Amino acid sequence: MKVCFLGTGAMVPTKQRNVSSVLLEYEGEFILFDCGEGTQRQMNLAGYNRTKVSRVLITHWHGDHVSGLIGLIQTMGNIPEPGTLHIVGPVGTKQHMHHLVRAMSFDHRLNLDIVEVEGVRPEVVVETKRYVIRAAAVEHAISCLAFSFEEKDVRRFDVGKAAAHGVTPGPQMGRLQREQVITVGDKEVTLDMVTYLQRGRKVTYVMDTSVTDNAIRLAEDADVLICESTFLSSEHQDKAEEYGHLSAKDAAFIARSANAKKLVITHFSQRYFDTTPLLEEAQSIFSNTIAAYDFLELEVVRD
Ligand SMILES: [Zn+2]
Ligand SMILES: [Zn+2]
Repeated sequence: MKVCFLGTGAMVPTKQRNVSSVLLEYEGEFILFDCGEGTQRQMNLAGYNRTKVSRVLITHWHGDHVSGLIGLIQTMGNIPEPGTLHIVGPVGTKQHMHHLVRAMSFDHRLNLDIVEVEGVRPEVVVETKRYVIRAAAVEHAISCLAFSFEEKDVRRFDVGKAAAHGVTPGPQMGRLQREQVITVGDKEVTLDMVTYLQRGRKVTYVMDTSVTDNAIRLAEDADVLICESTFLSSEHQDKAEEYGHLSAKDAAFIARSANAKKLVITHFSQRYFDTTPLLEEAQSIFSNTIAAYDFLELEVVRD
């Protein structure tokens, strides 16, 4: 499980940074958080096959978060057997998509599955065998969502404990898994005695917003919190509040309040060529912070 930052700038692409998109790779599946202009080229440069994207999670319909969608959709439809692209976004996403795909002339071969979410409270918007994705509304000039990708906990055999209880790998373990309790010799062995719960990993993505409870709720105990940090609080806290954005200090406050393990700040205003001041400001409140840059790849590990 890893994330790759495809764009780390706010509002406009610069020579140094593209606009918002983060790719999450999980067991061979590619999930995009946002898809700003140029995202598919960034994927290409980073070595990710664009036709393998299965889901796009859209925070909101400001251009710097969605203007790469149409190009990606055309590219994904350009293979012999295009499948389905699952899109989750705020209310209004179906209408935006309706206009978007008609704005250009091309063969619509890719199937689009679109889900709109209100997210008054954090809610599950995708569930598979291995993970859930939750979304919640945050506070911006227009409807905006934050997302969490949460791997499910998995029960695993502790080989040492199993051996100590005389449980052999293979059919016996399989039977224990099915029946929860088996008899080994003259003893009963339960599943709990020879297994442990492997905690699932969690990545939370919070973009354009003011500080809000839903962002903190969604980021609770996240292994990695990816959070916008458009401004430096010591210079422009007023601007952050006026435009519905977070400062580096706000991002760190959310990480600390949510008990996140690691904070990655991103979505920097173009006025910051060097992000060191933002990083230092965030670190003064939440020490395990790093500043993202384009093409940064981060392995999401359990501690
Ligand atoms: Zn933005
Ligand atoms: Zn915005």
